Amino acid sequence: MGQILSLEFEQQIAAVRELLRTAVREHGRVVYANSLGAEAMVLTDLIATFVPEIDMFSIDTGRLPDETHALLARIEARYGRRIRLVHPDARALEALLAAQGTNGFYGSLEARLGCCQVRKLEPFRRAVAGYRAWVTGVRREQSATRASGAALEWDAGHGLYKVSPLLDWTEGQIWHYIRARQLPYNSLHDRQFRSIGCAPCTRAVEPGGDGRAGRWWWEQAESRECGLHPRVRAAAVRTPA
Ligand code: SF4
Repeated sequence: MGQILSLEFEQQIAAVRELLRTAVREHGRVVYANSLGAEAMVLTDLIATFVPEIDMFSIDTGRLPDETHALLARIEARYGRRIRLVHPDARALEALLAAQGTNGFYGSLEARLGCCQVRKLEPFRRAVAGYRAWVTGVRREQSATRASGAALEWDAGHGLYKVSPLLDWTEGQIWHYIRARQLPYNSLHDRQFRSIGCAPCTRAVEPGGDGRAGRWWWEQAESRECGLHPRVRAAAVRTPA
């Protein structure tokens, strides 16, 4: 580490490493869905350094900002490891664009979810096929539905376990780790982008505001998920016996 970290923070980092190792021990084939956001820089570093048997992929929706592609190249240079990119199905994408136009997702919630379905959810399903668990960088602070998640839970929607090692981390701790380890990160974060997704659906937010307010900002707060994580959490989404 470039900076001294407190013992408490070191223990928190060790707990993440242990959870990732436990996931591999218990579930065998584990894959990390790398969002390329700030949390993803922490998980990329921990996985590449300590648990490299966890596979990694990112979804290239076709609408990512140039800054995100530049970040991908920096990550690959630092770790000497290629992140598998998964793309939307070409025919489904053509059909979507024929139906709603290039930026049809601004037209309605239904159209937006349709775009996320083709560009994100279907590629995600293909990418996790054959794995027994997937890793995500969600944190409780990010939204009300994420607040009630568990570090290890059964993801009934996708049919595999979901591991969320950073659930209890704060945004400040994420950035403390990034700076201490001098990790690469998306340059958009230096321009007040707190949560980064597709270019047309992401914008900068006021300092101190809701970190996810820049995603799908034209919608009601409760609908602002792409569908990979539940918009409304079912009462009993827990590990099956
Ligand atoms: S975030 Fe926007 S551009 Fe990206 S898949 Fe969803 S609706 Fe489409």
